[in-house]
Amino acid sequence: MSKNEDNNELPRSTGTCRFCGQQRIIKTVGEITQEKADEIATNECDCQEAKVYQNRASKIKKAREWADNRFMGHETVTSLFYEAFDRIVNHDVDKISIKDGDWTHNVFLDSDGYLTIKSGKKVDEEVNFS
Ligand SMILES: [Zn+2]
Repeated sequence: MSKNEDNNELPRSTGTCRFCGQQRIIKTVGEITQEKADEIATNECDCQEAKVYQNRASKIKKAREWADNRFMGHETVTSLFYEAFDRIVNHDVDKISIKDGDWTHNVFLDSDGYLTIKSGKKVDEEVNFS
């Protein structure tokens, strides 16, 4: 008896986890590049390194969405934040400060490992009487 397999309904590629080398079959809609297939495999893998990677990627994605909303239309500022998120999550540096007008935004990982943006606005008040 021949089973009616659905193998040919969707194009499939094999992706390789970039950390442990485990391969998996990726079902795709349309053709994808090997790089994309490997990225998907890495995102689905359960190995320790892949988990860390997925966690970092998830933080960066959420932080980017925040920056996109917070600084809508200010592409220079948003791209600086994107860079800062990558650097901080990769532990290249501990903290990055971005000054934008009266605001200072500090980007860092808090003690729980959350990617954190702490924003403060310079508030000066001066009253003079002669
Ligand atoms: Zn893996």
